[in-house]
Amino acid sequence: MDLPDYAIEASRLVKVYPAKGLTPAKTALNGVDLKVPRGSIFGLLGPNGAGKSTFINICAGMVRKTSGTLSSWGRDIDSRPRDARAAIGVVPQEIAADAFFTPHESLELQAGYYGVPKSERRTDELLSALGLSDKAQAYVRTLSGGMKRRLMVAKAMVHSPPVLILDEPTAGVDVDLRRQLWAYVSDLNRLGVTIVLTTHYLEEAQQLCDQIAIVNHGEVVVCEPTRDLLRRLDTRNVVVTPDHPVTAAPDLPGFQSRLRAGGAFEVSYRTGQSSVEQVLAAVRASGVHIKDIATEDPDLEDVFLSLTGARA
Ligand code: ADP
Repeated sequence: MDLPDYAIEASRLVKVYPAKGLTPAKTALNGVDLKVPRGSIFGLLGPNGAGKSTFINICAGMVRKTSGTLSSWGRDIDSRPRDARAAIGVVPQEIAADAFFTPHESLELQAGYYGVPKSERRTDELLSALGLSDKAQAYVRTLSGGMKRRLMVAKAMVHSPPVLILDEPTAGVDVDLRRQLWAYVSDLNRLGVTIVLTTHYLEEAQQLCDQIAIVNHGEVVVCEPTRDLLRRLDTRNVVVTPDHPVTAAPDLPGFQSRLRAGGAFEVSYRTGQSSVEQVLAAVRASGVHIKDIATEDPDLEDVFLSLTGARA
């Protein structure tokens, strides 16, 4: 079979959670169009309540869409729900550990659940890939939080899905473990697995993801290669350290300025409209003597802020 161009393709996807008691109906997804290119590491970002989990849960077959279409690995979720679900492994936000099983048993059970024949199971390989071989026969409840999380990743991979979705995989996880997790995710991606992840760590998303979608109020506000997204913002900052620390940023006609720590201030300007030279001229004209300057490129945080008005 030909491989699909898109690992996940959503068109006009709508989800309305019906009213319940006094809680009014809530439109969580309001016509989402999204194409996740096969082979990508795709970041799904957005402020709390934007609809990310709803989208992921529909992909995973845990929430029913209200309308629109969705296909995973080219398999339509309405006409081929089982095949569509089988194409996806989901690592949920919450750790749902099988306390009374060992990691080995846990993976075998999960494989059974997905109907993976014994001869095709990869329990030992997954345990080893996620650094859990030593703990293969220990009760899950004795595992550290980090180990449990790695076990969740292994569980999501038992049926060798071509698409792995990680929902906030690094929330509350220490730096070392985050690095390990990303190393494994990058390895999987090199082997051809498409990765979709939601994260609040925009710096990580910027480094890891080759494509990023930002959702806000149930709508996709942008979906672009990370590089293009960063190029979109034509705002630059000049950080000025004055000879004498200031207590308020100077008023500069035509520019926005803000106080920084240590008596410095930043001035932002649009690259299409002015230059660093003009910024510096305005600073000097305001009577400030400049000791040092630094320029800053916008990062994903700036892009996110300008598109959603919220901090990640
Ligand atoms: P995110 O994952 O981006 O934080 P969610 O998909 O969890 O966003 O939520 C999107 C919106 O849908 C929110 O307003 C949330 O309150 C609402 N919502 C999520 N799940 C349910 C549910 N089971 N019932 C009713 N409303 C829900």
